[in-house]
Amino acid sequence: MIITFPLGLMNWKLLLSMAFIMLCSIGLLLTLHPGGGSRILVAVSIPPLAEFVKAVGGDRVEVLVMVPQGASPHTYEPTPGQLSKLGRADLYVMVGSGIEFELSWMDRFRDVNPRMRVVNASLGLELLRDDPHIWLSPRCAMVMVENIYSALVELDPEHEDYYAENRDRYLGLLRELDEEFSELSSKARIRKILVYHPAWGYLCRDYGLEQLALEREGKEPTPRWIEQLIEEARRSGIKVIFTSPQSGSRGVEAIAEELDAEIVEIDPLAEDYVDNMHRVLEALREALGVG
Ligand SMILES: [Zn+2]
Repeated sequence: MIITFPLGLMNWKLLLSMAFIMLCSIGLLLTLHPGGGSRILVAVSIPPLAEFVKAVGGDRVEVLVMVPQGASPHTYEPTPGQLSKLGRADLYVMVGSGIEFELSWMDRFRDVNPRMRVVNASLGLELLRDDPHIWLSPRCAMVMVENIYSALVELDPEHEDYYAENRDRYLGLLRELDEEFSELSSKARIRKILVYHPAWGYLCRDYGLEQLALEREGKEPTPRWIEQLIEEARRSGIKVIFTSPQSGSRGVEAIAEELDAEIVEIDPLAEDYVDNMHRVLEALREALGVG
């Protein structure tokens, strides 16, 4: 087809701006739909779940973390900006172990986005009372990853093989962690750990260790409780007190001094889950007296 009318200056300008608008639209479309198909927007409660979802979903998913790095899922409240982004999410992956953030907010999230599917990552796992930190046992994490895999396949069955391959690769890393924690436990001379915030109950349960926690039910320890724990820590030969970056640690220096113990920070919520659990492993090696 030939354009026969003469192009005046105004027409050129019009054509140029139309071309510009078209290029912008193409750019926008490419951003929204990389690699052809549109990406699945997956909301998760906490950063470690973001690694699980990205590990299985690869470049098919975009992840929205509701409790950002540095915040505590025991107290955090989402921002209006997060709620509006949540309105576009296709899937929500809950920890599902009774963590306060989900108990307070899941109903609201379902109201904000009724078409969003919700999956409980802890489905099929045996829960501990008063301890929502289920992801901190690699053995539990393996089941959580399987649940995330099933949810993604249900939502996007076309890419089942891709998800299966990703899942298997990541499960391999978790299996390695599981073996290393089992080996550590088999060599441990000390079988108890002293922590401020009781986040490690599942890890201890699954690997035959015992957690002594200063904080109880989210409350600072009483002097009587501190005295009792110091006594028990002495008897058990404990020389390390673990703190975490998101939780308080009032009075921990005085307790460390009394026990002649070292204070070591370990993070229950780091997004680089596998690397972080290797750091936890190293920290435990020392605390459990494994040379
Ligand atoms: Zn916690």
